[in-house]
Amino acid sequence: SPVLLWFREDFRLTDNAALWAAAQEERPLLCIFVLEEAALPGGAARWWLDGAIRVLDSALRKRGGALHVLSGAAREVIPHLARVAAVQAVHWNRRYDPVGREVDTALKTALKEEGIVARSFAGALLNEPWTVRTKGGAPFQVFTPYWRAVRAAEPPRVPVAEPPSLSFVELPEEMKPHLVPLDRLGLTPTSPDWAGGLRDAWIPGEEEARAHLTAFLDTDVEAYAEERDRPAQDATSRLSPYLRFGHITPAQIWQAVERSGKAADKFLAELGWREFAWSLLFDRPDLAMRNLRPEFDALPWRTDSKGLAAWQQGRTGYPLVDAGMRELWRTGWMHNRVRMVVASFLVKHLLIDWREGERWFADTLVDHDPASNPVNWQWNAGTGVDAAPFFRIMNPILQSRKFDPEGEYIRRWVPELARVPASLIHAPWEADADTLRAYGVVLGRDYPGPIVDHKGARARALDAWGEFRKGI
Ligand code: FAD
Repeated sequence: SPVLLWFREDFRLTDNAALWAAAQEERPLLCIFVLEEAALPGGAARWWLDGAIRVLDSALRKRGGALHVLSGAAREVIPHLARVAAVQAVHWNRRYDPVGREVDTALKTALKEEGIVARSFAGALLNEPWTVRTKGGAPFQVFTPYWRAVRAAEPPRVPVAEPPSLSFVELPEEMKPHLVPLDRLGLTPTSPDWAGGLRDAWIPGEEEARAHLTAFLDTDVEAYAEERDRPAQDATSRLSPYLRFGHITPAQIWQAVERSGKAADKFLAELGWREFAWSLLFDRPDLAMRNLRPEFDALPWRTDSKGLAAWQQGRTGYPLVDAGMRELWRTGWMHNRVRMVVASFLVKHLLIDWREGERWFADTLVDHDPASNPVNWQWNAGTGVDAAPFFRIMNPILQSRKFDPEGEYIRRWVPELARVPASLIHAPWEADADTLRAYGVVLGRDYPGPIVDHKGARARALDAWGEFRKGI
């Protein structure tokens, strides 16, 4: 009898433990994805999901199978299908977000009641969240000791290959009413077609993930530690959406790095941040909703819909902030250094609650990750564990001068400023109007003036901090 293989956020055939186990037992497969409205990600990630489903389906078709997309709630559809198809077992790879875990538990119970074996496997992380603990058995709250513990432990498991032989069974006729044809997935609207920039920037899938990894390892990986902060350089791996959708596993990346023989500690430590974020989320499922440090609940956030909209649209008048927000809108991705600058700007310069930013990123990032996103927002806002202190306020002008000195990144995403020289591009309002006009820019007409004055905003944030401190 067959194995029902439930794909979730693990769109790959290599290093897929759930698939590997079924293949080892020489069981025929019935491969499904459950399209469950309540569990769908934000807009940009939905676009990616659409592509991930198609690419996996075509990879399975090449091997004689298919990915059947079924609508409904996983906890109901899967036991039903398991019964109808008389499967021996249901296999899946574990998820560690609150919704994923809840479904796992409910599904395991439902299958047990039916007498069907439920087997879940690890793979999305180097270490399952509950396995890395302090000597006292508690979750780590600070990254450095967390990562030290990981590095001191056994190296991660060796990834498994794509199974050499696979066989498949058909979807039972009775399930056809649940089947969603791939041309009717409805995950991305076609009118208006806002996904053009995403299509230009990315190709989802396992093969592309490998190509990104190879291309990254072919670069000067030793220079990553320095160059990764320069948004105009292509110095980072851009693997984040591929990891997010499980086209590649961190164990595969780890192994490839080791085999390359390159010194990539800094890069591996970034993967470590991803792990750390998941370990925090595991212990604090409400991470995107609540300040990790509850005393920050008293911070006096401002309501500023105009400021929020200007930030979202990349019209704050701060060129580096605007470049980042426009890169995000167009490509569904933003360079890490710029993510930090825009996050700090929203939270400190505009004094807007970090959760507004977290939500916007959740809807616009193709790599939106339920752990990394809130952890990084809380780190930048100063409200999280192991956080940058609230009173450390990033200066968006200095950050711009330091990390995009020639203004290349800004010119790429803010074409209004294309002719403005590097000496003026970081703070165009400091130039006199005639000079700017000579470069084709009138502030307020072609490009906005700054929506807040840096010094004033900084003083306001520090005042708010002072008031807040008095109260705790
Ligand atoms: P590389 O530099 O090549 O790093 C390799 C991998 O390490 C990344 O693919 C990613 O999986 C992981 N990584 C790197 N930096 C971090 C980090 N700071 N935290 C956690 N993991 C990291 N990353 C996401 O994957 N999803 C998110 O939703 C997300 N939201 C963020 C929000 C804010 C406010 C900030 C400041 C950062 C956020 N990040 C998020 C982290 C980071 O910006 C991206 O992972 C990184 O830019 C992805 O590019 P890359 O793959 O080229 O990274």
